[in-house]
Amino acid sequence: MRLYVHTIARQSLANGPGTRAVVWVQGCSIGCPGCFNPQTHSSDFGGSEWDPDKLGAELGGVAVDGLTVSGGEPLQQPEAVLSLIRAFRRNHGGTVLLFTGYPAPYILNNEAARSVALQADAVLAGPYVPGKESEIWHNKRLLLITNRISPDELVPEKRLEIGIDRAGMIRMTGYPGAEERSAISSFMEKGIGIHDQG
Ligand code: SF4
Repeated sequence: MRLYVHTIARQSLANGPGTRAVVWVQGCSIGCPGCFNPQTHSSDFGGSEWDPDKLGAELGGVAVDGLTVSGGEPLQQPEAVLSLIRAFRRNHGGTVLLFTGYPAPYILNNEAARSVALQADAVLAGPYVPGKESEIWHNKRLLLITNRISPDELVPEKRLEIGIDRAGMIRMTGYPGAEERSAISSFMEKGIGIHDQG
């Protein structure tokens, strides 16, 4: 089994409670108008392939407060994402946060998607809707939460995080305001990825 990944952040302060490992998966066919992450849509654009068990175990060995899985669309690789989460949990006591563009009815009625959601401590679900940037998590709805995470911890801070990976790729992630996002994007050159919760 392979997990198709767009980007990995081994420690991020802008993707959920505390310091988190983050996996943005590659591939999404939902097609939300105005999606911030079009570079994650193609199932064969760049990125990397991983054994999800190995990746989960590796990330579970990092000093973080938990794992965040985003995209792309995690629930379009349900078996691999399930393995990733389970492997992380075998190696780490932290929480798991899942972002998905699918709405609650789809998840609740799809066995594979539901199986993944039930492994998480919190699931933020629903498509990106343009013009809803001022809402918590850009219009996503809290589908599921365990007592290991407080809803207050899920309110995003207006925080922008910039990292550079070993290949020289610059990664921007977090929740800057719309004006800051526009100014930064126009400043950046081709080859720089912007990763937001899809
Ligand atoms: S916002 Fe998320 S679910 Fe929607 S098209 Fe973009 S990656 Fe897919």
